Amino acid sequence: MTHPAFQAAHPDFLTLFPDGAAPEQLGREHTWTEGPTYVPSRQRVIYSDVRQNHTWAYTDAGQLVEEQRPSGYQNGHCLDAQGRLIACSHGARALLRQEPDGSWTTLADQFEGQRLNSPNDVALHPDGSLWFTDPTYGLDKPEEGGRGEPMELPGRWVFRLTPDGQLSAPIRDRHKPNGLAFASASTLLLADTGDQAGTYRYDITPDGQATLAGLHFRVTPGKTDGLRLDHAGRIWSSAADGVHVLTPDGHELGRILFPETVSNVCFGGADGSTLFVTASTGFWRVPTTVTALTFR
Ligand code: MG
Repeated sequence: MTHPAFQAAHPDFLTLFPDGAAPEQLGREHTWTEGPTYVPSRQRVIYSDVRQNHTWAYTDAGQLVEEQRPSGYQNGHCLDAQGRLIACSHGARALLRQEPDGSWTTLADQFEGQRLNSPNDVALHPDGSLWFTDPTYGLDKPEEGGRGEPMELPGRWVFRLTPDGQLSAPIRDRHKPNGLAFASASTLLLADTGDQAGTYRYDITPDGQATLAGLHFRVTPGKTDGLRLDHAGRIWSSAADGVHVLTPDGHELGRILFPETVSNVCFGGADGSTLFVTASTGFWRVPTTVTALTFR
């Protein structure tokens, strides 16, 4: 019998989960979880509790362990092309990289002499560049690291950092850019959690320029904060009632209901088929029959 959390809008939805699948809660009593990313070299998934200024890890061996406290109000994470952990830090107003010894290197904290706002989420482009969003939640919200510092940049942009360290701001036409995921080298899906909330599609050129191609989809209830794509290009989006799964062109296949607002998801685990879900005060996993979209 299908677990009642799985709500199919299309019969194909239920093929995305093994028989007997059910959401399982791994972490609880957090405040605002975000930024799940599986780190194969360490056999664990990392996630943030942004508002407790803390990161956690859940290991393949099944242990929930403290990762870093204080965490510099880290939010979103991804891996770079070498498999190193990349973090968005509200506290440092920077994009950071973790080195093998555990220390952090600042990759970007200013643009044309002005400090970044508060990097929120980050994605790896197939060419090795890191694209990250820079809304002002970490400036506006004391509970997310805001110290009353002013915004220095004239906008809330999406930045591109090339492997050789060149920083540009290819997207400047969004209100509050948030989660992002590449569908291909030439297509970026970008969530905006501000006015006109929705997930927008951008055409990307090989030299890193971006042009708005249109609204790709909108979830109801709530907004897309974070999103990831599976190997078939399906979209796994956060929403207020859970995780919505959509076709590559943005039509809903179904949703996994959660008791709290979901902020973000990632695929991971030893075989890559576990969906990890950050849902407000909780951290969860769901077994699936899919794996993440990769470009290698
Ligand atoms: Mg976010």
